[in-house]
Amino acid sequence: MSATRLLRQQWLATKFTQPLKRWNSTAAGLQASALKINKADTLKPLVPNQDLVFGQTFTDHMVTIEWNADKGWDAPEIIPHGKLCLDPSATVFHYAAECFEGMKAYKDKDGKIRLFRPDMNMARMNRSAHRIALPNFEGEEFLKVISEYLKLDQRWIPNERGYSLYLRPTMIGTQPTLGVTAPNKALLFVIGSPVGPYYKTGFAAVSLKATTEYVRAWPRGTGDSKIGGNYAVGLLPQLLAAKKGFQQNLWLFGDDHQLTEVGAMNLFILWKNAQGETELVTPPLDGAILPGVTRDSILSLAREWGEFKVSERKLTMPELRDAVKENRVKEVFGAGTACIVSPVKMIEYQGEELNIPLDPNDSTSQAGPITKRINKAIMDIQYGEVEHPWSVLVN
Ligand SMILES: *Cc1c(COP(=O)(O)O)cnc(C)c1O
Repeated sequence: MSATRLLRQQWLATKFTQPLKRWNSTAAGLQASALKINKADTLKPLVPNQDLVFGQTFTDHMVTIEWNADKGWDAPEIIPHGKLCLDPSATVFHYAAECFEGMKAYKDKDGKIRLFRPDMNMARMNRSAHRIALPNFEGEEFLKVISEYLKLDQRWIPNERGYSLYLRPTMIGTQPTLGVTAPNKALLFVIGSPVGPYYKTGFAAVSLKATTEYVRAWPRGTGDSKIGGNYAVGLLPQLLAAKKGFQQNLWLFGDDHQLTEVGAMNLFILWKNAQGETELVTPPLDGAILPGVTRDSILSLAREWGEFKVSERKLTMPELRDAVKENRVKEVFGAGTACIVSPVKMIEYQGEELNIPLDPNDSTSQAGPITKRINKAIMDIQYGEVEHPWSVLVN
């Protein structure tokens, strides 16, 4: 068997949670037991829940773990949250050697800390890192380090339903060289930011610009990786859409305008399909779609409910437009960790405004009944109101 084939087999066999030691087979794996903690001398004052703005407040500490191709992973460290010191030639600044995760820690009503399906974030981060030639790590060990970090900074995890501590695990290439090569040095770090509910006063449905002049991702590209490079290229289209009053881009692909994602969220449509069946549909994981943890959770829950057809399949904007005009569309929403669900009230496509219904039984509501039900079901699990294997206690 060829070396590449062998590596690929090992890679698949480990389900992306074990390191792929492509650089040096004797390099060390990530080891939580080697953790060193350097506590901050002074702790910052907490920010009251109602004053929290997404991503602006950070806890007292952060996790850093250095890697190099010869030695592998260094001892993980928890240090005071602060500046990083990098050479300006570091790979990340020039060739976007960066991948990240978005996950949350919740406090349940007994004050216990919970994570939601964190194994999926670990697996996805290893896949993202692999795609841009950054090193892999032992997901379970990294989770143990994150758990220690959460225990140390637990006063920053708000104690109220809807609030949480947003975690941003990030990996960057730090090799100080301008050569375009896979970096032989990397830094894995985690920062934490207390966040409030996405919708403080009930849902707020968004208007979308179906974007035809820019493409977010394409098959065999990197749309399925959570890498920084995917987001920089979306900022200009987002700005242009915002100038016209749209909150998000609805990203399309191909000449037939296939639906892909909405902003940085997965897309869901509840409709009566052309065959007259009620169906919840989301685009398939064809390589251009980010495999969202929320997406996967919604599909599982809806399949468990068994009340309507649940499909992962291609759908085009003209099909959606026709369905809206024939009053077959019931609900449209985006899905992601930050908001869980983001209801859509309007889509502008080729100069035409397509109005999406919200709640037929409540004209003041900004979300449809299934959108609301999904949101509640997931929150109940995240906050431990309903016991479920997806909710993992940090002990
Ligand atoms: C992170 C992300 C999502 C949502 O993923 P979750 O795991 O549900 O938070 C969807 N689309 C894009 C492009 C993303 O970056």
